[in-house]
Amino acid sequence: MIEQNVKELLAALEKGNAFGEKVTLVAATKTRTAEEINRAIKAGITDIGENKVQEFRDKYDAVTGGNRHFIGHLQTNKVKYLVGKTYLYHSVDRNELAEALAKRSQKAGIVSDILLQVNIGNEESKGGYPLSGAFQAYERLKEADGLRVRGFMAMLPLLSDERILTEQCDAMRALYERASQTDKNISYLSMGMSGDWKLCLSRGANMIRLGTAIFGERDYR
Ligand SMILES: *Cc1c(COP(=O)(O)O)cnc(C)c1O
Repeated sequence: MIEQNVKELLAALEKGNAFGEKVTLVAATKTRTAEEINRAIKAGITDIGENKVQEFRDKYDAVTGGNRHFIGHLQTNKVKYLVGKTYLYHSVDRNELAEALAKRSQKAGIVSDILLQVNIGNEESKGGYPLSGAFQAYERLKEADGLRVRGFMAMLPLLSDERILTEQCDAMRALYERASQTDKNISYLSMGMSGDWKLCLSRGANMIRLGTAIFGERDYR
């Protein structure tokens, strides 16, 4: 099941996104066991993303290989558990967090790769910079010691109106291109989950985060 899903997804991603860019599949591993994650890695998954610091830490040693992404809401007092172990932070959603990450990274003598999360649907329940302030936030944070801004991340709202979702994807792609035009560090537009990844790839996302499509429905008990 996991093996078959990974195989089919990787085959579907082989031709890249609508712009012909390579697509990175990040397996969203919240609630999954290390054993399930290792099966996915064996089947070809190269990148995995956790949502919670506790789960990231609990599974860190038991999972064998894979670039470790962090994709969930991050409290500043937990940054210390991730610095030096995280391949890419997708969810830098506020200046306070960026500053904490910069500080810890400098202290460790490393540079942390980050994406700026944009609250593309203006949703109360989600974090992220407003679209109108995202480029300005990028311009400020690209100068920060200890950080390297690599692009942007968004979660589309749960809407059935494909026209609105398409507009939101296009706005994210425009933001990404505006930054990448002059900044060679900008390489990722992380957008797309199990329900909307095809749309996202058709509008220029080049990194998607899939949980259910790989592992099946989640059981939170
Ligand atoms: C859970 C999660 C995903 C994957 O969700 P699915 O719908 O199961 O594919 C992607 N991104 C983030 C930030 C998540 O928390």
